[in-house]
Amino acid sequence: MLSVQKIKRLSEEFEEKTPQEIIEWAETRFSQNIAMSSSFQTQSMPLLHIASRIIPNLPIFFIDTGYHFWETLMFREQIAREWDLNIVDLYRDHRWDAYARQRTRTLPLEDADLCCHIHKVHPMQTALRDYKAWISGIRRDQTSVRANAQILELQNDGLLKINPLLNWTRADVKQYMEENDLPSHPLLEKGYRSVGCAPCTIAIGVNDDERAGRWTGRGKIECGLHTELFKKKDVSEIQQKIELEIK
Ligand code: SF4
Repeated sequence: MLSVQKIKRLSEEFEEKTPQEIIEWAETRFSQNIAMSSSFQTQSMPLLHIASRIIPNLPIFFIDTGYHFWETLMFREQIAREWDLNIVDLYRDHRWDAYARQRTRTLPLEDADLCCHIHKVHPMQTALRDYKAWISGIRRDQTSVRANAQILELQNDGLLKINPLLNWTRADVKQYMEENDLPSHPLLEKGYRSVGCAPCTIAIGVNDDERAGRWTGRGKIECGLHTELFKKKDVSEIQQKIELEIK
């Protein structure tokens, strides 16, 4: 078991390591107890490419919210087939089906935090219960929240989050894509530089921040997977809210 001090020291050491070196360490340390998540957008390609080559049968969680663009689903199918990926689709808890179905068209706009919790955070939290470590593709240059992240982060529930690409920039992603001739999400050429769910994503200009098209004008920049929403206290508060509304 890694102590908090050891995790902190390793995380500092990893600031000088490549994503490949960090993932090789993770593979050695966690073997079968590690999973990765991916939203299958253009910027996801480098980490998917690197990690799936170092850990061939790595479980890759794709959160199927039911609100994805058709292009995302087709792109996910294409990459999974061509790269022979071990993808695990995650869905919302069936106990919340009736509640969510009644609000299919309104929930993303009326209560995006709740919608993200039902469709993204809770399925991910449930899936990760069987693992000790989770590889994520966040970068410090994406949002103000991510700017303060660490390469290794011990979560409240004991899960170790590993962010191998944290120090990469947009330019690094572009360079890796070009050097390895990786495919782009089909909506990139239409101005969707960060692609999430259809009700919460718009096309943006070339000079806008990468995630400017996500929840635009709604004061939200994160779905909750990479923020305090993942902590047990906040999760239980939101679950209570949903359960109260269901009753
Ligand atoms: S991104 Fe939008 S549609 Fe997707 S889960 Fe969050 S609020 Fe719902």
